[in-house]
Amino acid sequence: MPTTREGGVVEVQAASPIPRIVALANEIGERVVAPLAERTDAEARWPGEAMQALGRAGLLGLHAPRRLGGFGLGLSALAQVTEVLGRSCSSTAMCFGMHSVATAVIAAKSTPYQEEHYLRPIAAGRHVTSLALSEPGTGSHFFLPRATFRRDGEAYVLDGTKSFVTSGSHADSYVVSAVAPGAELDPGTFTCLLVDKGAAGLAWAKSWNGVGMRGNSSRAATLDDVRVPEGNLLGSEGDQIWFVFEVVAPYFLVAMAGTYLGVAQAALDLAVEHLRSHRYEHTSERLAENSALTEQVAEMWTVVERCRCLLRHAAELGDAGSPEASKALFAAKVDVADAAVSVTNGAMTLLGGRGYQDNGKPARLMRDAQAAHVMSPTTHLLKRWLGRSVLGLPLL
Ligand SMILES: Cc1cc2nc3c(=O)[nH]c(=O)nc-3n(C[C@H](O)[C@H](O)[C@H](O)COP(=O)(O)OP(=O)(O)OC[C@H]3O[C@@H](n4cnc5c(N)ncnc54)[C@H](O)[C@@H]3O)c2cc1C
Repeated sequence: MPTTREGGVVEVQAASPIPRIVALANEIGERVVAPLAERTDAEARWPGEAMQALGRAGLLGLHAPRRLGGFGLGLSALAQVTEVLGRSCSSTAMCFGMHSVATAVIAAKSTPYQEEHYLRPIAAGRHVTSLALSEPGTGSHFFLPRATFRRDGEAYVLDGTKSFVTSGSHADSYVVSAVAPGAELDPGTFTCLLVDKGAAGLAWAKSWNGVGMRGNSSRAATLDDVRVPEGNLLGSEGDQIWFVFEVVAPYFLVAMAGTYLGVAQAALDLAVEHLRSHRYEHTSERLAENSALTEQVAEMWTVVERCRCLLRHAAELGDAGSPEASKALFAAKVDVADAAVSVTNGAMTLLGGRGYQDNGKPARLMRDAQAAHVMSPTTHLLKRWLGRSVLGLPLL
């Protein structure tokens, strides 16, 4: 039975709308997103047209509640939508993914004010949001912010630095993590607040020029006495460890795993197409008829399909609120990251010199795939968390 999360509560729907929504995302992926992917990469250009097309189709509201015009869906939908988008353009899939994670965070404990100012415009395709958790000082330990907030009358005031904010300077709002001064040594007490794009004191560092994911605009930002209304507090002060493990981590893991599964599938598609179409003049043999190459394709297909099964299983456990979900989600992101790197490498070899010659799509997929291991929670961190979970130890 398909389930959705609304206000932190699992909502049961009679018939699954997911296949229709995935078909819609796939259609937009092929018609709008894929043709822009090369330019997005070459010019390190934020995929605004692609995000607008996803907004017009209502897909930016994947996790916005249905009563506000969204689809009110959960992790299973996110896994499949990010996969089909990742197959077309990983940067677009990641911008969509981070928007979706931030939307889920806003929706988890939303107030009427946040529903009208953020979730309804998101569902209408008029608002892109993103997640600003990582900081240069604590790196991949994204749950340990050093940015601070303090109360000042009817506002909160934020100070600090954020790094790698996907859609940085393009999104309309950012879910920003911060701690009350003095609380930074307790990982259980940080707070998330919504900061709007034009907020005074929010400044962006130099443009993103990454090895891959070049459309992501993953920029650093400084917050210098940024005032936000008290209504922009998400949940209660200091309760965000709940957000991290109940919302941020599952949605983050699924968005990334889905994206990089799409990258792996795209690389496999390229290799298959090449082996099927390329024929030698001197033997008339198609590469597809060479048994060593067919075996390599078999191995690549198995890796991709195994990841897909694990990811969908993990997402279903997450949607069902199973206590086993987190282990499966940790494993899924680790496995997909390995698959994305190995399958894009394998495809490059199968494509021969043609794959290597012009820094084209095979190279883009290889470069994009490299981010899979280092995006938080990183592979190192996830293996540690997974091992500790299996052993019955606390994660942190
Ligand atoms: C394309 C891209 C998009 C991103 N988008 C966002 C976003 O939208 N929002 C956001 O908040 N962040 C985002 N990030 C940041 C990301 O999630 C990580 O926080 C960031 O990549 C960590 O980089 P770092 O250089 O600080 O790594 P470091 O923390 O310096 O880590 C370096 C290496 O050491 C390893 N390591 C660190 N600690 C341990 C340990 N205890 N045990 C074993 N190994 C360890 C790490 O796994 C990593 O491999 C993005 C990053 C990228 C590359």
